[in-house]
Amino acid sequence: MHPFSFVEVESAEAAINALEADGNAVFFAGGTTLIDLMKLDVLTPEVLVDVNRMAFASIQTTADGVSIGANVRNSDLAHDRVIRDRYPVLSEALLSGASAQLRNMASTAGNLLQRTRCLYFRDVNAGCNKRRPGSGCDALTGVNRSHALLGTSDACIATNPSDMCVAMAALEAVIHTQRQDGTTRAIPLADFYLLPGNTPERETVLEKRELITHVQLPNDEIGRRSHYLKVRDRASYEFALASAAVAWELDGGIIKRARVALGGIATVPWRSKEAETVLTGKPAATATYVKAAEAALEGAVPREHNAFKIELAKRTLVEALEELGRN
Ligand code: SF4
Repeated sequence: MHPFSFVEVESAEAAINALEADGNAVFFAGGTTLIDLMKLDVLTPEVLVDVNRMAFASIQTTADGVSIGANVRNSDLAHDRVIRDRYPVLSEALLSGASAQLRNMASTAGNLLQRTRCLYFRDVNAGCNKRRPGSGCDALTGVNRSHALLGTSDACIATNPSDMCVAMAALEAVIHTQRQDGTTRAIPLADFYLLPGNTPERETVLEKRELITHVQLPNDEIGRRSHYLKVRDRASYEFALASAAVAWELDGGIIKRARVALGGIATVPWRSKEAETVLTGKPAATATYVKAAEAALEGAVPREHNAFKIELAKRTLVEALEELGRN
């Protein structure tokens, strides 16, 4: 691991200024991804700006919904009573992620910025456009079983690894930030992530010295009837091969409104408006779910080892909807 210095800050302003003072500084919260990648020499920051002493560590109910501080730990968020009651899909997604120890450390903002698990990204000897722009993508012709089917490009097919963000996509979460000049932004999660295109090294719309302060979950009753289903190689401490976050409002067995987001199969947390359109106005029944799953995966582009995930993702979505119907 490369030597680095450690700076503790107590305010958003101090955090942003610390980043400004050193071009190779990064924010440090839980460190559950950052430290791994530093040990592998994938990331070599010279300064870690510890943001753990800042505020932004509470979950607050507001007139607009629920505000989740950037420093709220994944485990605290998952077990929060309001989250469990009003947004069960988020609690379930969080509890399906990583391990209990990691959830105790991982922060909300850190989870939003979680890096891909692509093994070529984590190997400094491999070609990887995301880690070293212009060096190629060894995953295209290599082992790509866990890679993405949706939102890919010829430059990168890495999967977004987060469970939390898939649930937040279905809930239409809004990410709030602060910039160096003191201005703030509210960025809908749907606009927060960038598809890889020709610049896979750029993963979000965040500017260089922009700090996530909190995430807002809208005040929408649809969250109360929601569910997350994750399919993976083993029951714990494993990333999704496919996952589905679903929510709906029913009226006499008819789906009035639906939300669908998919994980484990796309380069960003994948909201499927196509599936939602199929579901809306239809009976809550298996035949409807199957049609929605077909629509959700219509644009999938398989690679040598991951074609099986098309069928797996469809079945995951169908089963998630079946389970939601049984809840
Ligand atoms: Fe790098 Fe993306 Fe290719 Fe993986 S898929 S090697 S992250 S460019």
